[in-house]
Amino acid sequence: MISIAIDGPAGAGKSTVAKAVSKKLSYIYVDTGALYRVIGLYVVRNEFTDEESIKKKLNEIKLSLRFINGEQKVFLFDEDVSDKIRTPEISMSASKVSAFLSVRKFLLNLQRDLAKKNNIIMDGRDIGTVILPDAQVKIFLTASLEERSKRRYRELIEKNCNVTYEEVLNDIIKRDYNDSNRPVAPLKPATDAVILDTSNYNFKESVDLVLNLIKDKLGKLDNDERK
Ligand code: C5P
Repeated sequence: MISIAIDGPAGAGKSTVAKAVSKKLSYIYVDTGALYRVIGLYVVRNEFTDEESIKKKLNEIKLSLRFINGEQKVFLFDEDVSDKIRTPEISMSASKVSAFLSVRKFLLNLQRDLAKKNNIIMDGRDIGTVILPDAQVKIFLTASLEERSKRRYRELIEKNCNVTYEEVLNDIIKRDYNDSNRPVAPLKPATDAVILDTSNYNFKESVDLVLNLIKDKLGKLDNDERK
């Protein structure tokens, strides 16, 4: 099986780029942020605040990923929460719960099992470093803070979310800080990742860059195998 890991900070365009690339390659695309967001939603709904209470409930949570027409949907028990997890409130909650070791352990095998059974493109924060350290291709996709905030702001406005640019910017600064400074699985490029800064590239250019990089890496692997 082929695994492609795409990590990077919030708003770097990982999911839109990875989704487009996965269609071209006919691979399954897994957005792991959605898993942390579902736990974030559960925590908000149940008003938990500390790790102990969340930890006790983790085994009761029925969280599943389903692929409907190639599109990833996330379910909490039998409820499709794919849209409900996309609010700024749930982004912050996801960022908080993702620092808890119990939550990361709970989601680890689910992510690894998906990669065992499918050719996959998985995006997140620790895919290349922790979840799939043997991924054949690792990319760290990033962009300037300003560009990432602009992209996320546009995305939220298109979804009729009532936010200001400043709120989105501050939210991204906080999440970047939390994600990069937590002791467990912090956001950082794997030592063997290729770092791609897409600040000056549009969507199509970013997709082409990532596709070429993947083809190049996989082509080299094929050649090495033949030697
Ligand atoms: O990628 P997305 O912005 O949807 O992720 C939401 C939050 O989930 C991130 O801010 C991060 O804290 C957390 N996350 C993580 N590890 C991943 C994916 C997401 O810690 N692999």
